[in-house]
Amino acid sequence: MEKKPYVLPQLGFGTKELEPYITEPQLQLHHQKHHAAYVNGANAILETLDKNRRDNSDGDAKALSKALSFNAAGHLLHTLFWENLAPAAKTEPKPHGLFAKVIDSEFGSFERFKKEFSQTAISTEGSGWATLVFCRMTNRPLLMQVEKHNTNVIPMFRALLVLDVWEHAYYLDYKNDRAKFVDAFWNIVNWAAVNERLEAILK
Ligand code: MN
Repeated sequence: MEKKPYVLPQLGFGTKELEPYITEPQLQLHHQKHHAAYVNGANAILETLDKNRRDNSDGDAKALSKALSFNAAGHLLHTLFWENLAPAAKTEPKPHGLFAKVIDSEFGSFERFKKEFSQTAISTEGSGWATLVFCRMTNRPLLMQVEKHNTNVIPMFRALLVLDVWEHAYYLDYKNDRAKFVDAFWNIVNWAAVNERLEAILK
């Protein structure tokens, strides 16, 4: 198998298309600077690991593995996040299909799910993510906070929906008002993509 580097994905929508919920300057900064930094960071660590192995040099295993976890998870979460988003005009206000059924069965109603997901996002300490994952051990969707990009992550849980609540995700548009950003997020969720992820997991 050919080795390949991590690649910054293209967005599935125009940079103005999430406005007014996420403005073009905010989206460009987030994608082109912050997300790109995790891609470049992860690739630099892979190159360092290759070099250390060629040179038979030890390197700093603790620092390298910690930084790889942070940067690669940052890249993965941002990739999921962009796929979770869609222009308000092109998405439905509510989920449908299998995902809607699973949400109703777990949370009782979409409104209750929205409230719990928002609370998860708003109460994340410092920088992190709200994630809805699917647990095959219990066959239940679970809300989990991720701190930074990689603390609290249990890799076997497959993500359905993620929301970035690092300040870099909303500061230009909402200053420090995270709750306002979380509220805006609900207008631009790509429910079709979320439903496809769930169907792929349950296949
Ligand atoms: Mn981010």
